[in-house]
Amino acid sequence: MTVLVLGGAGYIGSHTVDRLVAAGYDVAVVDNLVTGHKDAVNAKARLHVGDVRDKAFMRQVFTDENVEGVVHFAAFSVVPESMKDPLKYFDNNTAGMVTLLEVMHEFDVKNIVFSSTAATYGEPKQIPIKETDPQIPTNPYGESKLAMEKIMHWSDVAYGIKFVALRYFNVAGAKPDGSIGEDHNPETHLIPIILQVAAGKRDQLQIFGDDYPTKDGTNVRDYVHVVDLADAHILALKYLAAGNDSNAFNLGSATGFSNLEILEAARRATGKAIPAVMAPRRPGDPSTLIAASDKARDVLGWQPQFDDVEKIIATAWNWNEKHPNGYAK
Ligand code: NAD
Ligand code: UDP
Repeated sequence: MTVLVLGGAGYIGSHTVDRLVAAGYDVAVVDNLVTGHKDAVNAKARLHVGDVRDKAFMRQVFTDENVEGVVHFAAFSVVPESMKDPLKYFDNNTAGMVTLLEVMHEFDVKNIVFSSTAATYGEPKQIPIKETDPQIPTNPYGESKLAMEKIMHWSDVAYGIKFVALRYFNVAGAKPDGSIGEDHNPETHLIPIILQVAAGKRDQLQIFGDDYPTKDGTNVRDYVHVVDLADAHILALKYLAAGNDSNAFNLGSATGFSNLEILEAARRATGKAIPAVMAPRRPGDPSTLIAASDKARDVLGWQPQFDDVEKIIATAWNWNEKHPNGYAK
């Protein structure tokens, strides 16, 4: 069985390719390298450089590879950018999904595991967030991903293409041996930015908002380790291969940490002072996002190994120390 990983040169994609290879899967990757890195792709996987929206290219990949299942990470995912340029997100993310499903239908490929996001829920009515809760995104990024879920739903109804939507909460950390990790440019995520301050690459952290209705006024998020997340994709592929119906699962820890708590945990994990200042709210940020993720545990048998946010940050710090310039030579 060849698993085709779209966006497999990116942060989460490269960790999933690594785990798939370790589990004995034959893996092919499609990535246009807009935010991904060639060196992040496990050497045992075949990399096809090109764009998911390029139908001729995608047809060639499906002709060359004996694809039995697709894992789809290829997307833009920066919330503030999506607020400024929503069409960039609907084009790359949502339109990309249409092309992908057309080609899957043409080549009779019936299974897809999809990177969805907590951002599809928007400002939650209740915490923890359940998979059945309303999905009302507060930013175009979340809207583009919700549209992708709906497009997959109707493609299942019409063509029998089965999907698992994995709604990630906040993903962090790196492979514990430090060989692959997170390298976004520009970086926008909290933990890697904090570690850039710890490494002396930035002067200080700006904390976006301290007037939210949370324990200390800063946003609360639910963090999951990237390797645990990668393993959930393998379980989702098995779930679909066993003939199960389309489904959606939250992937989180069911525990919330405020931005200030993450800063404190990073100070402990790195032993660095990490200067920080308060800054205005960032547009589009929901106050609190915490996942109910018992469904993934019960139905997929997912058993995350990392339950301590300080240990998660320590794996990211290890990657940073081993690769101070990321994937740049
Ligand atoms: P990333 O930017 O590191 O990875 C995305 C990869 O897709 C990159 O390698 C990029 O080059 C590739 N790509 C993008 N558009 C493409 C296209 N049109 N054709 C071919 N390749 C393309 O991002 P990531 O942090 O690894 O996120 C992966 C997925 O997970 C995204 O879909 C994102 O929406 C989702 N997600 C991420 C988080 C998080 O905390 N990082 C949380 C929720 C959901
Ligand atoms: N954040 C922050 N300063 C930064 C980057 C992020 O205060 O430089 C906050 C952000 O406002 C949010 C939390 O950190 O409350 C997590 O943001 P991130 O972009 O990492 O993930 P998101 O929750 O948006 O997916």
